[in-house]
Amino acid sequence: MAIIYMDHAATTRLSEKALGAMLPYFREEFGNPSAIYDHGSTAKNAVEKSRATVAKAIGALRSEVFFTSGGTESDNWAIKCAAKRMGGKGRHIISTQIEHNAVLKTLEQLEKEGYSVTYLQPDKNGQISPEQLEAAIRQDTVLISIMLANNVVGTVLRIKELSAIARKRRILFHTDAVQAVGHIPVNARELGVDFLSLSAHKFSGPKGVGALYCRLPNRLAPLIAGGGQEREMRSGTENVPGIVGMAAALEEAVEQLDTSVPYLTALRDKLVSGILPTPGVTLTGDPDHRLPGMASFIVDGIPHGVFLVQELNKLGVCVSSGSACSAASKEASHVLRAMGYSEEASGDGLRISLGTENTEAEVDYLLQVFPGVVRKLRNEKIPGVV
Ligand code: PLP
Repeated sequence: MAIIYMDHAATTRLSEKALGAMLPYFREEFGNPSAIYDHGSTAKNAVEKSRATVAKAIGALRSEVFFTSGGTESDNWAIKCAAKRMGGKGRHIISTQIEHNAVLKTLEQLEKEGYSVTYLQPDKNGQISPEQLEAAIRQDTVLISIMLANNVVGTVLRIKELSAIARKRRILFHTDAVQAVGHIPVNARELGVDFLSLSAHKFSGPKGVGALYCRLPNRLAPLIAGGGQEREMRSGTENVPGIVGMAAALEEAVEQLDTSVPYLTALRDKLVSGILPTPGVTLTGDPDHRLPGMASFIVDGIPHGVFLVQELNKLGVCVSSGSACSAASKEASHVLRAMGYSEEASGDGLRISLGTENTEAEVDYLLQVFPGVVRKLRNEKIPGVV
């Protein structure tokens, strides 16, 4: 049975171009970028060329881009560094209830160290208003961390308006742009943020590599200590193939935005209008400001979204009940709960995230099987579920 992969928010297939760019750096050009002989400088040059490519793709300078092991590390680094750097001024941080755990768990750690965090509650669409942010700012607020695009419902937040408030009040602003980079145009400077996290495997790059944009690199402090790579800021021998693959994938994704955004928007809209007539199904997230490929729903009357995922899996369709990190657990989504859905409804989430590889025929297939799967789950008693 051919697999229909519709879980691109969880991860993506490596692009041919990224694979081709990476391959030489596993064997022929395996040198350590820190070595001073030619074999090392080839790797070093590849890393620096990749830095320029990533910087250009996100509207940044080369000096503002630091390579990391992915979105989780970038989030940890930005938040911990900013909080600690500014600790003398105050220990209050503002974030939202719908962040990824890479942000939430980092903030939890800081709370244990004496920081206080205000978690803003979004509206039903997953948006945070400028007024809400303004009202939460205190004399001792030193950092605001708000995601650019949500990984459960696909809402694209109004970061430019929110960061403008932070800038006016001289508060550092971090955005987790992991779901947005490569999917919509992202320009760090235009967004007005101080830190921005991105991750290669969300835009057809390899897993385990990402980057942190930092507008004030001379104020950055290392999270990981050691050999002093990345201008003393992020130690550890560089993941050369990963970095090269990330740059190639990002360049390709950004070049293709003019075609991928309309293609995915049309495919997603077809999917949404085909799914919504099923009784008891609601679209979640912002209907107007959302990631092009992302459709998310609550399906009433089923024991849990996970069962829907399992049933669709039997038919060869890969989708998610929420974010990848909580896909296996049967908990309610903290994002849906924060958006005002009941505990029960928040367990019945379904996330379908399309990629450019998906075809209309695949969407047609999903639309054809979907009502039957929902009917089956509503009628069937699932063992262990009351
Ligand atoms: N932030 C968001 C919004 C994400 O969706 C993810 C991954 O799902 C991450 C951070 C973590 O990124 P990584 O898997 O590269 O650590």
